[in-house]
Amino acid sequence: MTTVAVARPSADLLRTEAFLAGRWQPGETGRTFPVTNPDNGEVIAHVADLGAAETRRAIESAEASRENWARGHTAKQRAAILRRWFDLVVARREELATILTLEQGKPYAEACGEVTFGASYIDFYAQEATRLYGEVVPSDRPDRRIVVLTEPVGVVAAITPWNFPLAMVTRKIAPALAAGCPVVLKPAEQTPLTALALAVLAERAGFPPGVVNVVTGQDPEPIGRELAGHRLTRAVTFTGSTEVGKLLMAQAAATVSRVSLELGGNAPFVVFEDADLDAAVHGLIGSKFRASGQTCVCANRVFVHEAIYDAFAERLVAAVAELPVGGGFEPGVQIGPLIDDRAVTKVLAHVEQARAAGARVLTGGSKHRRGGGYVDPTVLADVDPAMTVAREETFGPVAPLLRFAGEDEVVALANDSEYGLAANVFTRDLGRAWRMGERLEYGTVGINTGVMSSELAPAGGMKQSGVGREGSRHGIGEFVETKYLCIEGIASANP
Ligand code: NAP
Repeated sequence: MTTVAVARPSADLLRTEAFLAGRWQPGETGRTFPVTNPDNGEVIAHVADLGAAETRRAIESAEASRENWARGHTAKQRAAILRRWFDLVVARREELATILTLEQGKPYAEACGEVTFGASYIDFYAQEATRLYGEVVPSDRPDRRIVVLTEPVGVVAAITPWNFPLAMVTRKIAPALAAGCPVVLKPAEQTPLTALALAVLAERAGFPPGVVNVVTGQDPEPIGRELAGHRLTRAVTFTGSTEVGKLLMAQAAATVSRVSLELGGNAPFVVFEDADLDAAVHGLIGSKFRASGQTCVCANRVFVHEAIYDAFAERLVAAVAELPVGGGFEPGVQIGPLIDDRAVTKVLAHVEQARAAGARVLTGGSKHRRGGGYVDPTVLADVDPAMTVAREETFGPVAPLLRFAGEDEVVALANDSEYGLAANVFTRDLGRAWRMGERLEYGTVGINTGVMSSELAPAGGMKQSGVGREGSRHGIGEFVETKYLCIEGIASANP
């Protein structure tokens, strides 16, 4: 089988032990768990399996490093270390992408893109570290000064999912580190190798021992309970399912720790009759089929105006049927395997339920002939808002097309969800674009684009899609306390 030319990762990046208190170590029990390649199910590594005890030690080591990181280093010194980390990540981009494709399955070109995207958060927050300004507020008394300080919150616990094993890590921990917070990271059990490789480069960049900790483990429950509930944890930042997000929020309540949660979505993608149809098809392919449809912001319900429904469906099917499916290292591949068998079962169940309820399969609709984790890129027509595929997050390469007739109707349909993460609208009408941007109850709205992610913009959800924002200056605000310093006794020189 032909493969693209990829960089083979050097041994120094392939760590399988956890990183605690500045040391690479196995778990106390010596147990490990396997990491598999979703393309073929082969085991690619055995990684240290940690639990509550080691997580506690990681939190304590983070706390021990806190004062030095927050006050022993100036913002400029922290920025310089982050910048070195960024340079190292960029220099090892292809090797990191190889690790990412091996454990996550996404096409190598997409993995390279994720490394660049993930690194941009380190670069941005290296700069932002030096811009955490305070304020001096005009006082209401001549002998008093009102000063507002920004201070790091303290130990940050970060829990990340498998769909973006690198970018989800950097977009959480780069702002925390920039703000002066030490972190304890728990990556997803399917994709720990990318996170460990990032920690290798962080160590090399010069973060002091204890400032960056990575706890790997197969059972997330005891690790998560410790991370969210420990009295020394001051902020929990999580990306993953709404179900686990709620659990962590409840656990963090015990110590009134801050939470920022990036949770599930059910994104509407609205195509009006005046849209540029080719641009809308292109936007939908970018939104829906990136990472094989396993992104939280991807279109989950495609609302198409009845006047252009058939024309749009025809162009979409022509594009989707051409999407090359295959292993991440095969040339030109755009659709890789889903993360595991459970994901395949769920996606196919959504398609089956829709088909049984009257939806038409325009292309795809089955397991791909390669077998394993591969599913055909699929377009469904005549989908009804009540079908499971339109109510739940499918997290796979399935585009369900729904029909609408008017603007008010589609706003009501689009907002009829407990989620509120991302939405897309395609129209050439400027007034309509503004109205839709304002009326859609979603944290991010893309107008005439399918892909909105940027380190410069705040991303996050409304309703049950989460709390808090990642990216931009808002992202660092999640890890900063606002302190009011009241200074009295400034007597006038000439009373
Ligand atoms: P998940 O099951 O919630 O897992 C996410 C992370 O939470 C993993 O590290 C997982 O560990 C950990 N976890 C699971 N149970 C836990 C517990 N009881 N306590 C503490 N941690 C626990 O989600 P997923 O299925 O991997 O990811 C897909 C979901 O993430 C989708 O709903 C998607 O929309 C959402 N997502 C949201 C965003 C966003 O920005 N809003 C971005 C990407 C994904 P293990 O791996 O060990 O199970």
